Amino acid sequence: MPTSTIYTLIKQLLTKKATNPFPVKYTPNNMHAAASLIESGDLTINPPVELPPDFRGKLSYDVDACIGCQLCLKVCPAEALVFKSEERKVKHYVSRCTFCAQCANICPKDCFEMTEEFLIAGLDKYSDDMILNP
Ligand code: SF4
Ligand code: SF4
Repeated sequence: MPTSTIYTLIKQLLTKKATNPFPVKYTPNNMHAAASLIESGDLTINPPVELPPDFRGKLSYDVDACIGCQLCLKVCPAEALVFKSEERKVKHYVSRCTFCAQCANICPKDCFEMTEEFLIAGLDKYSDDMILNP
C-alpha cells in the first residue's frame, strides 16, 4: 500500500466524525422491532454527533413578523415557498426545501430561522409538521 494511502487512512481514523453513525451497533433484522426496543429502553442507540455551528436544519417561520414582501419567494431555488395572497403570508413545504438558507438571509424581518431539527423523515410530506403555515 502506498505511503500516501496509509497516511490518509490513519488521518481518517483520527479525524472527528462529521456524520452520524448508524443508530444501533448491528443492522437489525426488523427496524420496527428495533424501534420498539429503543422506545422501551432495551436497545441503546449511538448518540448523534454534535451539530456544527450554523447548522441548517428545518426552517422555522415567524408568521406574525412577515410583511408579505415576497423576497423569499424570489430567491428560493426549490419553489418551497408559496405566497398566500389572501393572508399576505407564505406557506413553506419542508419536503421541497434544500436548506440553502437564502430565504433566511434575504428576509428583511428575520422571519426565518434555520433550526437544529433534522430528523424530519416521514411517510406523508403533506402532514402538519411538514408544512409551515399550511
Ligand atoms: S432554505 Fe432555501 S430551499 Fe428552503 S425555503 Fe429557504 S430558500 Fe427555499
Ligand atoms: S421575505 Fe420575509 S417578510 Fe418577506 S414575505 Fe418572505 S418571510 Fe415574509
